[in-house]
Amino acid sequence: MKVGVFSTKSYDRTFLEAANVDDQHDLVFFEPRLTMETSVLATGLPAICAFVNDQLDAKTLSTIAQTGVRLIALRSAGFNHVDLAAARDLELTVLRVPAYSPFSVAEHAVALILSLNRKIHRAYNRVRENNFALEGLLGFDLHGRTVGIVGTGKIGALTAKILHGFGCRLTGYDVSQNADCLGMGMEYLSLPELFATADIVSLHCPLLPETYHLIDAAAVHQMKEGVMLVNTSRGQLIDTKAVTQGLKSGKIGYLGLDVYEQETDLFFDDLSNQVIQDDIFQRLLTFPNVLITGHQAFFTEEALRNIATTTISNITDFAQGRPCLNQISLDRVKK
Ligand code: NAD
Repeated sequence: MKVGVFSTKSYDRTFLEAANVDDQHDLVFFEPRLTMETSVLATGLPAICAFVNDQLDAKTLSTIAQTGVRLIALRSAGFNHVDLAAARDLELTVLRVPAYSPFSVAEHAVALILSLNRKIHRAYNRVRENNFALEGLLGFDLHGRTVGIVGTGKIGALTAKILHGFGCRLTGYDVSQNADCLGMGMEYLSLPELFATADIVSLHCPLLPETYHLIDAAAVHQMKEGVMLVNTSRGQLIDTKAVTQGLKSGKIGYLGLDVYEQETDLFFDDLSNQVIQDDIFQRLLTFPNVLITGHQAFFTEEALRNIATTTISNITDFAQGRPCLNQISLDRVKK
């Protein structure tokens, strides 16, 4: 099957080509992100393959459907960027990669927690300048601290498991409870209770209408003084302006982000020769207690291999008319 692969980086190409050796789909790699402007590249193709910052809104979907696209093969687990109602109305099939390595993201969340706590990002720079002073680098023992996990699915549960190994007390919030987490002694709380008691809050729930700006000014107000907030899930879970206020007042003592509300215009590209226009993002970078990575939590060899393998097998299922377990059900999407 001929597939237009949008937002292609060299590593996508390497892993997709390796996974495609047996199935032999005709992969056409496009570096640009899918937008209305670049949608012309999909002309005549029956399928496209998209990543998290590709634009899959109603207008773009309608345009690519008119030029022949029938399949959207997502290289991601999250599908909050796809207008599912439009996909259903246009009779598009949307496939995804539901799990590729929850370890990759959980381990990155813990990396942010450890780095922020022990100020590794600052220590690295100091030592390179022969500054061996310790003032400002004081950390705390994770052992005995309370970690509030919001969203205790695959990634949240693994994050909890790692932190359980450090001797942390685990609390959680989810719409349904996870038996593994209960088995580790996690106490499920309401969100206000979790915010009021957690030393570290780590976000692992999906971006949904009900979780948009889950962390707003009211949530920050409920948190402990000097709390550490970590988001490796989706940027729009956090109202960045509210969190910036929390950092300025000292209420938030540490902020670790792998995702950012307006990341679409920033992440995955080298912008080091450009002037960044996003003042809110630039302000975040000025805080010594903020550590940001550019949506790299998923970026391990194992994850890329699994993403590529599942994506190719999803495309093969569609091409051969087989039912695909990884199809996003559009039947119950609201009109
Ligand atoms: P998952 O589906 O296994 O778990 C999500 C959990 O969130 C479930 O337990 C679900 O019940 C819970 N949930 C649903 N609605 C909720 C609500 N309103 N409040 C609280 N919890 C709610 O998903 P996962 O594989 O653990 O992934 C979690 C998130 O991680 C994804 O949605 C995605 O946004 C993000 N992610 C980020 C990266 C990255 O590179 N930074 C990579 C993969 C996934």
